[in-house]
Amino acid sequence: MPNHIFGRTAKSSMPVAIRGEGCYIIDDQGKRYFDGSGGAAVSCLGHSNESVRLAVREQIDHLEFAHTGFFTTPVAETLADKLVALAPEGIDRVYLVSGGSEAVEASIKLARQYFLEIGEPHRHHVIARRQSYHGNTLGALAAGGNEWRRAQFAPLLVPTTHISPCYAYRGQRDDETPEQYGLRVANELETEIQRLGPETVMAFIAEPVVGATSGAVTAASGYFKRVREICDQYGVLLILDEVMCGMGRTGYLFACEHDGITADIITIAKGLGAGYQPIGAMLTSQKIFDAIAKGSGFFQHGHTYLGHPVAAAAANAVLDVLTSDGMMDRVKTQGEKLQAALETSLGGHPHIGDIRGRGLFRGIELVQDRNTKAAFDPAKKLHAKIKANAFERGLICYPMGGTIDGVNGDHVLLAPPFIIDDSQIDEVVSKLTQSIEAALQ
Ligand code: PMP
Repeated sequence: MPNHIFGRTAKSSMPVAIRGEGCYIIDDQGKRYFDGSGGAAVSCLGHSNESVRLAVREQIDHLEFAHTGFFTTPVAETLADKLVALAPEGIDRVYLVSGGSEAVEASIKLARQYFLEIGEPHRHHVIARRQSYHGNTLGALAAGGNEWRRAQFAPLLVPTTHISPCYAYRGQRDDETPEQYGLRVANELETEIQRLGPETVMAFIAEPVVGATSGAVTAASGYFKRVREICDQYGVLLILDEVMCGMGRTGYLFACEHDGITADIITIAKGLGAGYQPIGAMLTSQKIFDAIAKGSGFFQHGHTYLGHPVAAAAANAVLDVLTSDGMMDRVKTQGEKLQAALETSLGGHPHIGDIRGRGLFRGIELVQDRNTKAAFDPAKKLHAKIKANAFERGLICYPMGGTIDGVNGDHVLLAPPFIIDDSQIDEVVSKLTQSIEAALQ
C-alpha cells in the first residue's frame, strides 16, 4: 500500500490493519494476529468492546468538543470524580491530558510550579532511574533512563540524574534478602538527594512496574515504602508513572496499591482509553492544587484537547468495565496462569534468564548464559528476530533490546487484553516459544 505517513514506517512496509475483534487484529489479507502486547499495554479490554463503542458514539451524537478554556463537561467531571474515588489515598485532583508523555510533562511542570508557588525556587532537579521510559517529549525524555534515547537531544531541558532501578534479577547479591536489596537500592535515592543538595531536588519519578525498557520488572518488597519515606524526609515530590502499568494491568487498578504507598503525582494513560480514544491524566493532591490555587491561581500548562469529551466518555466506560465485578481478580488469575505457562514452556530453556511480572504484565529476559547472566551481543538483534517470527505466526508481542543499563540485553514484554482466556494463553505461549527458538537458531 503506497503511503505518505512520516513515522515509524519510514523504512519498512507493514501489514495493513483493517479490523479488531476481541484479542485479535485482522489485516487486509484476512490474517489474524493475537494482540499479545495490547499495542504496548493499551488495549486492556481487547478490540471492539461494545460498551465503550456505544459510549463513544453517544457522546459524539451530543457534543464532540468544547474547549476547556471556556467549558467543563459532564463526562470530564464524571471521569475526574471516578478517578479520585478509585485512586490511592491522598489523590484529590485530576488534570486530563491526551496521552502518556503529556501526563509526564505536566507532572514535571506541576512539581516545578508547586515549589515556585511555595517559595522554594531552587528546587529544580529531577531524579529518575536508569532503565525507565517516561515518554518522548523533551521533559519526559530527560526523565527516561535510556542514555541512547536522550543522547542526540542533549542538552535536555530538565536537569535530571539517574540512579539504579530496583531490578532483583541483575542487582540482588547472594548475601542479601529481597528486602535488604530493596532497602539498599532505595537508599541510593537518599545519597543522590544529598549529593545534589536537598534544597535543589523537586521530584523523584519512577514506574512502579517498569515496562518498555525492562520487561515488567517489579520492585523488591519494601523498596517503594523506603522511597516514600525518603521523599517525605527531604520534601521531594514522588511522581509515580503508571502510564503503562496502571489501569488494572498488574491486577490492581493502580500498580502502587500493591506496594501500599501513594504518590504526590500519578500519571496514567494507555489503558485509561483502552485504545478507543487518546487520553491520559495527571492525578495529584489537594495540597499541591491549593498551592497553585492560592498562589498564581493558574497552572502554566494546557493543550487544546485536554478533557476532550469523547475521550472522557470512552475512559468512563473503560473504568466501568475495569471496576466491574471480578475484573481485577481475573487479571490476577489469568496473569498467574500466563506466568505458569511461560515457566513450563520456557523456564528450563538455557537462554531464558528470568520470567517475571505482575498480573497480565509479564517479561521474559533472554541471556546468552544462565549462570553468568551475560546478555546476547546486541548486534544479533535477537529481539527484532523474535518480533518478526512472532508476527509471521500471528502473534504481536513487544520485544526490546537494551535491558541492561539501557545498552545490552533482550527481553519480551507481554501485555495481553484482560479478556484473554485459557486457550489463548496456550496460543500465546506456544507461538512465543516457537518464535524464540527460531530466533536462537
Ligand atoms: N510513561 C511510560 C511508563 C510509558 O510506558 C509510556 C509509553 N510507552 C509513556 C510514559 C509515554 O506515553 P505516550 O506514548 O502515550 O506518550
